[in-house]
Parts: sequence; C-alpha cells; structure tokens
Amino acid sequence: MKGAYGQAEVNRRSYRKLKESVLQAYGGKCCRCGFDDRRALQVDHVHGGGNRQIRKLGGGAEVLRLIRKLNYPMDYQLLCANCNWIKRYEAQEVAVCPPRPRIVTGKVVCPGGLYV
Ligand SMILES: [Zn+2]
Repeated sequence: MKGAYGQAEVNRRSYRKLKESVLQAYGGKCCRCGFDDRRALQVDHVHGGGNRQIRKLGGGAEVLRLIRKLNYPMDYQLLCANCNWIKRYEAQEVAVCPPRPRIVTGKVVCPGGLYV
C-alpha cells in the first residue's frame, strides 16, 4: 500500500513523464529564442485561448494528455516563459496597465526609472 504520500509521488512522476514526452515531441526548446531549460518551457496554444482550455479540461495535465492523445497536433508549440508572456502582451491577451508612479520613502518611483 502506497498511502497518500506515495500516491502523490506516483502522480508527480507520471506528470513529469507526460510533460517530458510533450516537450520532446515539440522539439525540446523555445520555438522563438531556442531556450531549452525544461523548468521554464511552456506548452503554448498557437492561436491563443490556452487558459480557457485549461479551465475547460480541468487542469494543465489534462491538456497535456489531450495533446498526446491527438498525436501532438501543430496547434501547440513550445515557448519559454519570457517568450510566452511577450506573445501574450503582443496578442493583447493580458491587460496592459499604464505605468503608475508610486511613492517609496518620499521619492516617486516609476517603472522606467527613479525620479526625485
Ligand atoms: Zn523563448
């Protein structure tokens, strides 16, 4: 009998194996910049809508299972976390807030620099 901890470990290993198979199928590196550190690689939906699909399917692992089941369709690609966020900004999938100055110990700090 494995117990709760043992089962969690099995689930973790199974997830890692699943994610690794998807990473390998899509070339194992960011398709924009070539970054290949597995810890920062993300499966991206080429046409957007990834978060909606994750919510609909009930989690990222379910999306990976679907991708494997569909034999790694071209609707997905690998992006590193930086390129993924840049793509989301470019596609305006995230709200871009105008920079707001904030006060820190008597000085006005702006995201682009510091002025007194
Ligand atoms: Zn990248």
